[in-house]
Amino acid sequence: MKEEPSVEGNCCSGLFDAFEFTRFQDADPPKRKGVYVIRTCQRGTPAEEIREKAVGQAGSIGWDVAEKFLCSRLNRLSEIGDCPTIYIGSAGTYAGSKNTLKGRYLEFSRRHTAQYPIWALLSSGWELQYGWMIVDDHPGTAEEALKVRVQKGTRREAAGAGEPMNGVRFIQDSRALPAEPPNPKPTPISPPPISLQ
Ligand SMILES: [Zn+2]
Repeated sequence: MKEEPSVEGNCCSGLFDAFEFTRFQDADPPKRKGVYVIRTCQRGTPAEEIREKAVGQAGSIGWDVAEKFLCSRLNRLSEIGDCPTIYIGSAGTYAGSKNTLKGRYLEFSRRHTAQYPIWALLSSGWELQYGWMIVDDHPGTAEEALKVRVQKGTRREAAGAGEPMNGVRFIQDSRALPAEPPNPKPTPISPPPISLQ
């Protein structure tokens, strides 16, 4: 029943054979630990054009702190190169983490570090795929290994084609921003939390 939508390019698609892919908006990952990937299926408005427009809109809010935050996220659109793989993440990386693939996926609708660039792409004619694979032990290690292999595959492809590819610079900054906070704060019961989410 699983329909395999076509994916542009093949520089690293073989790395995700064990993943279950669907259209991004239709994904239904399980409440399990694992790794996930977002890749482009069809491109719409050029990413740089989307970025410029979105950054302009952020500036039009007229609120410096909001603009600064939004721009730091939206500027990641510049990282999209020729490789269809634009994001690799994991869920449940840290010991005791209650994060699941389902939870991380839903965060893209609310508070994921990559949500703004993803939203901007989806509203600009891009078709994205969401893929996941259950990894019960050390999903963070699997995530890092996948990133290395995607980067190697893309470099090999570039060499074969004789045409330089942009390389893979995912739309996340994996060094500055871990997939999830190492010490997630427990939800305080008293006093009531003040939350902006
Ligand atoms: Zn690739």
